[in-house]
Amino acid sequence: MPRVYIKTFGCQMNEYDSGKMRALLGQGGYVATEDVDDADLVIVNTCSIREKPEQKLASFLGRVLPIKRRRPLTVAVAGCIAQMSGSKLLKQFPTLDLVFGPDSVGRVQSLVDAAQTRRVVDTEFHSDTASYPFPSDLDPDASGRIGALVTIQKGCDNKCTFCIVPSTRGVEVSRPIDEVLAEVRALVARGVRELTLIGQNVNSYGVKLEGHPGFAELLHRVHAVEGVEVLRYLTSHPRDMGPDVVACYRDLPRLASHLHLPVQSGSDRVLRRMKRFYTREVYLDLVRNLKAARPDLVLTTDVIVGFPGETDEDFEATMSLLEEARFEGSFSFSYSPRPGTPALRLLEDAVPPAVVSARLERFQSRQREIQLEAHASLVGHVLPVLVEGPSAHDEGVVCGRTSGFKMVNFPGSHTMMGEWVPVRITRGFANTLRGEAV
Ligand code: SF4
Repeated sequence: MPRVYIKTFGCQMNEYDSGKMRALLGQGGYVATEDVDDADLVIVNTCSIREKPEQKLASFLGRVLPIKRRRPLTVAVAGCIAQMSGSKLLKQFPTLDLVFGPDSVGRVQSLVDAAQTRRVVDTEFHSDTASYPFPSDLDPDASGRIGALVTIQKGCDNKCTFCIVPSTRGVEVSRPIDEVLAEVRALVARGVRELTLIGQNVNSYGVKLEGHPGFAELLHRVHAVEGVEVLRYLTSHPRDMGPDVVACYRDLPRLASHLHLPVQSGSDRVLRRMKRFYTREVYLDLVRNLKAARPDLVLTTDVIVGFPGETDEDFEATMSLLEEARFEGSFSFSYSPRPGTPALRLLEDAVPPAVVSARLERFQSRQREIQLEAHASLVGHVLPVLVEGPSAHDEGVVCGRTSGFKMVNFPGSHTMMGEWVPVRITRGFANTLRGEAV
């Protein structure tokens, strides 16, 4: 049987697309392999949010393409870099066979077939968004896992000035509720207990669907599926998070006590330049309402440091927002100019790299302290942990997550996998907790 090796860079959306490709290629007879040297087909699913993944792609292809000199091998680049660069990638890498964007994932088998006889580029967006084909096949690699991703939406209609996603994933299309529910039920039937609904801006879910079901309605419907024990979602836009979604944290007990709510900056001036369409006060009000609905809610966020024109005062506003919101984790990065994004026009106000690095270091160091403080305060508490499996590092230790998405390691055995175990926290590190089953 032919073997496919899929290398995934980037976000959960890419993880999910890679799973769909494994499923679709599986129907065509391909078996997934973890060993690139064993593969007949290699697909690199790329990300273009920051510059690093582009460098990673070049270095990965630099290792894989020479294999083609020794034996037959089909090599494809998929995902956001493929969408942005299209046929330029074929010129840059003369032995590359296939380039296709995120909208073509459902056609992966026919594209791979076509690439056996000619070099292929497919970066067309699906033009009829009303009939956008969300693949329903399940990732064979997800079997036996406790958690799974389910896409509810593709693309984004926002135009945040730093973001490349609207160009790489196209306009926003929501997946019909019945399709989402069917996939959730199929995953639960396979033993999945924790579902994460994914989309670029889940809070605008359904605005173009018939009957306009909102995201809150979707949360209620998925929450009601028997067997769903933990419900999570990614990613939210603070502007679009309405009171009905906030109320879900009061009304839906299996909705996880963790919310990733990207803020990007604590300065209203920077938020305006980013075209985020909310203010610091609106964001903090939302945080207060969420905590009123679910007092133990764990908040995490995304922050961009050194956006063009960011002054010392703007950065201090981000630091003070970190104190007020008490994020228990954040993805913080220095601003990375992306091709074709509106923020490129602001580059004459670019912040000097040394200033950006110093600010980022200060933000991350304070973030780490807050995490340590939050985790120290959990020592002695008993938290329910859904066990995911053995620890990758310690023999005789298992790991799992709390509802608040805290990773907890504790002595245990594989028989605990998929079980809720009450764990007394004995030690807090910056990113994980240590404990013992009680
Ligand atoms: S909402 Fe998110 S995906 Fe959409 S443009 Fe803004 S940052 Fe990008």
